[in-house]
Amino acid sequence: MPEKIVIIGAGQAAAQAIATLRAEGFDGSLTLVGDEPFAPYQRPPLSKTYLAGTFERDRLFLKPDAFYTEAKCTTIFGVAAQSIDRSTKKVTLVDGRTLSYDKLLLATGSRVRLIRVPGADLPGIHYLRSIADVDGLRPTFKTSKHLAVIGGGYIGLEVAAVARKYGLAVTVFEALDRVMARAVSKPISDFYEKVHRDAGVVFHLNTGVEGFEGKGKLEAIRAGGKSWPSDVALVGIGIMPNCELAKASGLTFGDGIHVNEFCQTSDPDIFAAGDCTRHHGRDGAHIRLECVQNAIDQAKHAALAMAGKPSTYREVPWFWSDQYDLKLQIAGLIREGDQTVARGDPASRKFAVFHLRNGAVAAVEAVNAAPEYLVGRKLIGEGAHVAPERLADTAIPMKNIA
Ligand SMILES: Cc1cc2nc3c(=O)[nH]c(=O)nc-3n(C[C@H](O)[C@H](O)[C@H](O)COP(=O)(O)OP(=O)(O)OC[C@H]3O[C@@H](n4cnc5c(N)ncnc54)[C@H](O)[C@@H]3O)c2cc1C
Repeated sequence: MPEKIVIIGAGQAAAQAIATLRAEGFDGSLTLVGDEPFAPYQRPPLSKTYLAGTFERDRLFLKPDAFYTEAKCTTIFGVAAQSIDRSTKKVTLVDGRTLSYDKLLLATGSRVRLIRVPGADLPGIHYLRSIADVDGLRPTFKTSKHLAVIGGGYIGLEVAAVARKYGLAVTVFEALDRVMARAVSKPISDFYEKVHRDAGVVFHLNTGVEGFEGKGKLEAIRAGGKSWPSDVALVGIGIMPNCELAKASGLTFGDGIHVNEFCQTSDPDIFAAGDCTRHHGRDGAHIRLECVQNAIDQAKHAALAMAGKPSTYREVPWFWSDQYDLKLQIAGLIREGDQTVARGDPASRKFAVFHLRNGAVAAVEAVNAAPEYLVGRKLIGEGAHVAPERLADTAIPMKNIA
């Protein structure tokens, strides 16, 4: 067992790592450093119920304050870690303090990708990653008329759904030819585009934004060679992993800090978990995941390894998105060339798309279809082979398919 563990980044992965370290018997000193002025909180509600104003801020926090006291975890919030000296095993914070470690966990998450076009710094242009971002965006929904969403990914579409409830006109600009293209298959993209169109959202697909216009504040979006009036914009064009500390200290990285099956970096005393990492998935592909499941499960595995009980990370990735009355749940990773099997009718707003790879269930996308998601996730974990016609037959309950 190490004597001193330091965790950099106070988010989803960090909260889990603290819980697992103490549960696994680590009784040495534990310090958590976070640059936000908050204890770890959950981000998924930010673009959903917290933005809608139906979820209290206090409920965002992953653990009560007493958890950190009981876990004897020293917390330093509102201060960023600036550098790591691997030879002396010390972390230096921006305020000059130094913390020594035996094992270090990097749980630095990711940050929003900034749009770099003329006018991008005009007031009225927002991003969504943190509590502070929502606290800046939500009040504008009460005073604005026309929201432009730049990027038709899941965050952009969740915000579009909330904005429609506030009564704003919403236009989505998406550079690709379909929505949520990085995360879901075409049938799911097509379904969600129709749902949003039916709710009054206007889409400009295959349309990159060329600039923002306005005198002193946002007045229009420049896209496809035209100006589109808009008084508030939400940019959701992806995230970038926070790898700078890893890079500066010479750890192996590249679009994410490289970790092995125990969430260990190229330095055996430094581990990493969550959005900031890149690892080999179950099928061997080198992937970077941006989801709660990965943050929690990698944190558990990193904590186990730091506590001297290494265990291989092989969990099935899962993810969800809430838009209007629809819960989308995805398990596994979809790939080009998968055989897709539809189950149920999209018109019923309750259906699923299964993905088979070499005959085995590899992924499921389920809309308002919890049994399909839960059983699908189990089948993926088992590498089960199921005949497509059985999966497609809604007369056979999912529990019987399992
Ligand atoms: C609006 C929104 C909605 C989402 N919805 C979903 C969803 O529905 N389902 C889902 O599965 N996932 C969702 N996600 C993704 C999910 O929240 C992330 O995958 C998860 O938070 C990653 O956890 P993490 O611990 O890796 O990083 P984070 O939770 O981002 O925590 C990292 C922390 O480290 C801090 N940090 C960075 N550098 C330093 C430094 N040098 N010193 C100190 N601190 C530092 C960061 O500021 C941050 O506070 C959503 C994300 C957002 C933003």
